[in-house]
Amino acid sequence: MVKIVLDAGHGRGTSGKQSPDGEHEWHFNNQVVEACMVTLKTYDNVEVLRVDDPSGKADVPLVERTNKANAWKADVYVAVHHNANTGSWGKWTGVETYTFNGQKASSQSTEIAKLIQPRIAKAMGLADRGVRQANFHVLRETNMPAILTEGGFMDSVIDIQALRSADKLRAQGKAIAEALAVYFKLEKKTVEFEVPMPEEEDEKNALPSPRFAEEFQAAIEAGITNGTYPRRPATREEVAVMIVRALRSLKK
Ligand SMILES: [Zn+2]
Repeated sequence: MVKIVLDAGHGRGTSGKQSPDGEHEWHFNNQVVEACMVTLKTYDNVEVLRVDDPSGKADVPLVERTNKANAWKADVYVAVHHNANTGSWGKWTGVETYTFNGQKASSQSTEIAKLIQPRIAKAMGLADRGVRQANFHVLRETNMPAILTEGGFMDSVIDIQALRSADKLRAQGKAIAEALAVYFKLEKKTVEFEVPMPEEEDEKNALPSPRFAEEFQAAIEAGITNGTYPRRPATREEVAVMIVRALRSLKK
């Protein structure tokens, strides 16, 4: 079982973490995390734990988030964020993925970041600013490979167009899930199709309903039906054949 921790950065009302128009970062992060969870559910042998508050009400302290992930013994920690430069509108643009810059930096984190980064840049349709290193709490205090994504600048007149697109945020979440599936070699759940019931002899030779019995017998005699499966729904082709047979019997 692969255990994946997802963390939508901040909380719904966290001040300072917003676009110049007042759109809060958590709102963008949350949509990505939700889409990521939906896609991860299409794979076998994967468990997901969300360490932010899914309602957004609380801005769960970072130490609580990383403690939960460590206690759960997650296989990977993925923090989803969106960037800000000056907090006023500008033309900077692009997507970044971070790994820890210290001693403890793991090659697995880098490998996962390298799978995620180009996929989310493509999903958002934004410039690829590459995999970078930083001393962020969630990267430093986690005991498992950890990455932090910055899926575009909230204070960019370019990037905000993508951030305001629910489709693009969904694509970003899907891209993260697909990158994790590649890394952990997850396999898609097999879709179970409904197997048609085997034909039963008594159904084949059942008697027609009493109120149709007379006409059904007449239809058999006219050669419109051979009288089998009297209570089974007819397909369009069966109906067509019955109509043609009825017309032919009129010409005789
Ligand atoms: Zn953030």
